[in-house]
Amino acid sequence: MVISVVGHSNPDTDSVTASIALAAFFTAQGQEAQACMQSAAGDLNPESQVVLEKFGLDTPVEISDAAGKDIALVDFSDLAQAPANLADANVVAVVDHHKVGDLTTNSPILFRAEPVGCTGTVLCKMFKEAGIAIPKNVAGGMLAAILSDTVNFKSPTCTDDDKVAVAELKKIADVADTDALFMDMLKAKSSVAGVPAKDLLFRDYKDFDMNGNKVGVGQLELATLDQVADIRGDLMGAMEEAKSDGRHSVLLMLTDVVKEGTDLVVLSDDPALVEKAFDGKLENNVMWIDGMMSRKKQTVPNLQSAFGC
Ligand code: MG
Ligand code: MG
Ligand code: MG
Repeated sequence: MVISVVGHSNPDTDSVTASIALAAFFTAQGQEAQACMQSAAGDLNPESQVVLEKFGLDTPVEISDAAGKDIALVDFSDLAQAPANLADANVVAVVDHHKVGDLTTNSPILFRAEPVGCTGTVLCKMFKEAGIAIPKNVAGGMLAAILSDTVNFKSPTCTDDDKVAVAELKKIADVADTDALFMDMLKAKSSVAGVPAKDLLFRDYKDFDMNGNKVGVGQLELATLDQVADIRGDLMGAMEEAKSDGRHSVLLMLTDVVKEGTDLVVLSDDPALVEKAFDGKLENNVMWIDGMMSRKKQTVPNLQSAFGC
């Protein structure tokens, strides 16, 4: 059976390009595999669209129901971020760089997770170890994903392994200036003009189960907070709507990539709990947190300990 390789819901550039790369890896090993994503092509985030176009990569096929399929997961292992009916699928592999989620399997699988900045970095190692050459366009996608996930090496999630992978991939992809590539991606990613607030909230968004509470965390990476000055009210409206849909808390990280910090917008049944999590004080539902760049490494772990997970 063909292996459907898929990243998390609301796919980011890593989820999209890692599905392409792992499918290429399986194919090179003689297994049938197809890159998939949990998004319609037209709904793909603008950064990923730019990356696919720039490197001439095919858009992964949309998958919404995993039932009866052979599935490989990239960039996540949390059931809350999976396609529907993953329990009725045969999960054959996980390649990731997040905390291990709540997925379980009936048989042994390929499970490769490392505490590095990007799934692309893990995949780069897998190609190398297997002696498989990375196709030029696939390398370009992986390179873009590492720059995106590590915020051009500024995120605390970035490791030396990520830098080594970038040095290798830029040669294969024939990219001379990775800073310029990152700025092109940031420009696309942070464009908010004419985009409905709800789409902005869910552009890069994840739900988590925290001690029985559904907690959603979105992130917008911006070149400056001025980009959202006029739409904060609309964003709050979108958050209220998301919260009324059975969530205990909805957080939106407005991350200033240049100043290297986050304006954290919070709607919660228990705002004091969130203040405690970040040792800050909310003013009009917002607190600035200097140095906060990473949802995975800074936001989610603090919330989890505050929620007693
Ligand atoms: Mg991701
Ligand atoms: Mg990632
Ligand atoms: Mg990300």
